[in-house]
Amino acid sequence: MKLLVTGGAGYVGSVCAAHLLEAGHEVVVLDDLSTGHKDSVPPGAELVEGELGATAGEVLGRGGFDGVLHFAARSLVGESVEKPELYWDGNVVASFRLLEAIREHGVPRLVFSSTAATYGEPEEVPIRETAPTRPTNPYGASKLAIDHMITSYAAAHGLAATSLRYFNVAGAHVTDELKLGERHAVETHLIPLVLQVASGTREHISMFGEDWPTPDGTCVRDYIHVDDLAEAHLLALANATPGEHSIYNLGSGHGFSVREVVETCRAVTGHPIPAVVAPRRAGDPAVLVASSEQAQEKLGWTPTRTDIGQIVSDAWEFVRSR
Ligand code: UDP
Repeated sequence: MKLLVTGGAGYVGSVCAAHLLEAGHEVVVLDDLSTGHKDSVPPGAELVEGELGATAGEVLGRGGFDGVLHFAARSLVGESVEKPELYWDGNVVASFRLLEAIREHGVPRLVFSSTAATYGEPEEVPIRETAPTRPTNPYGASKLAIDHMITSYAAAHGLAATSLRYFNVAGAHVTDELKLGERHAVETHLIPLVLQVASGTREHISMFGEDWPTPDGTCVRDYIHVDDLAEAHLLALANATPGEHSIYNLGSGHGFSVREVVETCRAVTGHPIPAVVAPRRAGDPAVLVASSEQAQEKLGWTPTRTDIGQIVSDAWEFVRSR
């Protein structure tokens, strides 16, 4: 298939682009390089440098596209609270422009990078797709708004669409030729921050709260390997039905606490990784774990890299390769 990958110079987008190329697809990456990196675009993909809303129509207007995988987004929760306008414009308005270009040029398939943040504070864990969607910040709200737009476009215009709601994406795509992982200028995610301590660029890790109602008092999250995540996108492309918008959670179904993650990083890196307890971070739910039964049943997706040790060691190999 000929595919447009928006945000293909970013963490998840670049890994998905690598998997698509490996499967024999033709890949055009559209990225404004605001947070992505030119050298993350895997060899074999064409890079079009441009802003999503302004450029998507031009690229899709070349014709012949079988699908779009839409990763380009702003994704910092804290920033979304401070400057929501960036999220309504950069996520919602830009995605609307993309959907319009998809409609205008008759592109049949769309896979969208949605998020567990669309659910907000869960009533029940594991979280199913039928759970109420009550995002607690503008980032999650903007992703949910896009999900709603996609539902209406699928119903009205026959688009075969899938939204994949990621839990905590982690790990790296590590092969002899290619090493793709998290390289955020503003890093907020737990595993890369802990590995910064191990590589000597950060003194300690702050654990946000130790009085949560969890077995060891620290927050529990569902870490999903970026390669497992990428495989779900290929399955979503292959299994989509015209006129339908399917929504699937992607997680491993296993929860690990902040303390367990730090301990795993110590074991993998051999570094003592000093950790200090800091106040809770506003808006953090105590436990987020996915039920990915739907993705497993309907897409035939099976995450195979669920060992937290492997997730961390792939991330560590990526860090050391830089
Ligand atoms: N966390 C932490 N210290 C940090 C960064 C994150 O204790 O410096 C915790 C955070 O409170 C959450 C978990 O690690 O419970 C994962 O956070 P992350 O930002 O990686 O992902 P989120 O779950 O917020 O999407």
